Amino acid sequence: GKEARASLEFAEDSRETEWVHPSFAALLYQGKVKWDLMHPFPRQSDEDKKIGDAFLEKLEAYLEANYDADEVDRTGEIPDSVLKGLADLGCFAMKIPTKYNGLGLSQVNYNRALYLTGSYCGNLTALLSAHQSIGVPQPLLMFGTDEQKEKFLPRFRDGAISAFALTEANAGSDPRAMTTAATPTEDGSHYIINGEKLWCTNGTKANVIVVMAVTPPKIVRGKERKQITAFLVEMDTPGVEVLHRCRFMGLKALYNGVIRFTDV
Ligand SMILES: Cc1cc2nc3c(=O)[nH]c(=O)nc-3n(C[C@H](O)[C@H](O)[C@H](O)COP(=O)(O)OP(=O)(O)OC[C@H]3O[C@@H](n4cnc5c(N)ncnc54)[C@H](O)[C@@H]3O)c2cc1C
Repeated sequence: GKEARASLEFAEDSRETEWVHPSFAALLYQGKVKWDLMHPFPRQSDEDKKIGDAFLEKLEAYLEANYDADEVDRTGEIPDSVLKGLADLGCFAMKIPTKYNGLGLSQVNYNRALYLTGSYCGNLTALLSAHQSIGVPQPLLMFGTDEQKEKFLPRFRDGAISAFALTEANAGSDPRAMTTAATPTEDGSHYIINGEKLWCTNGTKANVIVVMAVTPPKIVRGKERKQITAFLVEMDTPGVEVLHRCRFMGLKALYNGVIRFTDV
């Protein structure tokens, strides 16, 4: 009906308008095969490989000596001491530029590090990737202000963990259905967030998270459009509650939670 059409339009409007980096897989859906995107397969430069090799060597030695994946699976917990050791190696700041105290690894070296952790434990890989691919660091690097970058990014070198909260009980594949709202205060200086998020990976461990919330509508091409905005929320803000840790059949040590925001 009308709602389904509105959701479809919302999704279509959110698409990239110019594909600077076209996707081989996405083009397949349009019946186009662009072999030049796949062949010759891009090779990592020798210089970048050397940087990655050096980091991977340290990471592998650490995992080999300290990470017991069977124990993590049995207990459903990754020991804090292990997370601290990984933080000391810079595992929570892999792609963050060195000017913000990060390791400044390339995307390829980050991928290689996650292949490696994936060969040890899926829980750890989910934690590291939810934090760095969808949590705070990557969106902040792409869209944040300099002030936000300076405030938040160096904390990840010290082991701060982040998460991304989009999904709600009635908003999964259709994010437009979300009801968590950020309402501007009367003086316009702040937004107040109210709502509940589901299945937030790292949500039970995170220090700071990205929360997607509905903000006042805007007129786009003559039509009123629902707006969804990303907010950085410190988890120790009064009104933020982790209600429940969700458990999964496979990833037994995923730190995934239901989070409620009351006048945050
Ligand atoms: C392990 C795990 C970790 C997660 N981590 C996070 C996280 O960190 N942050 C976060 O925000 N969310 C997270 N999620 C939530 C995840 O993003 C949602 O589960 C996902 O968006 C799908 O939403 P849903 O579960 O409500 O399924 P639904 O949207 O209800 O979909 C159910 C089924 O219906 C199908 N379907 C839905 N709509 C259509 C349609 N229009 N046409 C045809 N088929 C359709 C789907 O393909 C699916 O098979 C996580 C989920 C899991 C399982």
